Amino acid sequence: MGSEGDDSDRPDHPDRRGYGEGWDELRQATLRRDGYACTRCGADDRTLQAHHVIPRGAGGPDALENLLTLCRPCHGVIHQSNSSFDDVRDEAPLFPKPDAPDPVARLREPIDQCCSRCGVERTDSGDLVAWIDPPSGPDEPDSGHFTLCKSCAGFLAESDARCEYEDLTGMGRLQIHELSTRRLDARVRPSLFAPPQVAVRREPRTLRERVLFDTPLRFVFTGPVRWLVAGTTLYVLATLLFTSL
Ligand SMILES: [Zn+2]
Ligand SMILES: [Zn+2]
Repeated sequence: MGSEGDDSDRPDHPDRRGYGEGWDELRQATLRRDGYACTRCGADDRTLQAHHVIPRGAGGPDALENLLTLCRPCHGVIHQSNSSFDDVRDEAPLFPKPDAPDPVARLREPIDQCCSRCGVERTDSGDLVAWIDPPSGPDEPDSGHFTLCKSCAGFLAESDARCEYEDLTGMGRLQIHELSTRRLDARVRPSLFAPPQVAVRREPRTLRERVLFDTPLRFVFTGPVRWLVAGTTLYVLATLLFTSL
């Protein structure tokens, strides 16, 4: 059982208050409570560390309630900007385990929390699935996987794309029926940044969908441009109002 671990914040914080003898007992108590296994991935054969949910720098206490056991790779997933984890972060599994506590239930990279087809960010990792080993794109290196929201995943698996249900993986067991149902909610158009393998258009089902989401009007209603349009409209209205007074 590896246990040389300490809190990753230490290299960044020269202040070592609390990391004395008391800390070692607390760390041991944390590992014991968590069954000597990582609370994100469940690994029990890696170096285990105690992670502060609320960082010490932000006033998080050295208390059992504020500590969770993490293996070193998963600890690096939670501390993305701490370079001391750069060598191990990739060893963390892509998905957290289904019962991982919220503060550590994140996908491996921050970008993985966004659907690669529609671009929408999902805070709940359970709303995401991954297409493993997709065919590599014309001018992109093999990415290993694309994360997708469940709607886009269901849509792609039933479209002409080369994505099949058996290529998909997620947090816990994937319910094909759920993905298939949710495909109806997939956005009509992929985001402008979607890689070609997932940039598949969904045929609009209603006139409303066609007009709002499949014509340039979609930039007015869904894109960041809508704020510009709203602002300009207000400005024009206000100008007209004041000049007519
Ligand atoms: Zn882990
Ligand atoms: Zn999506």
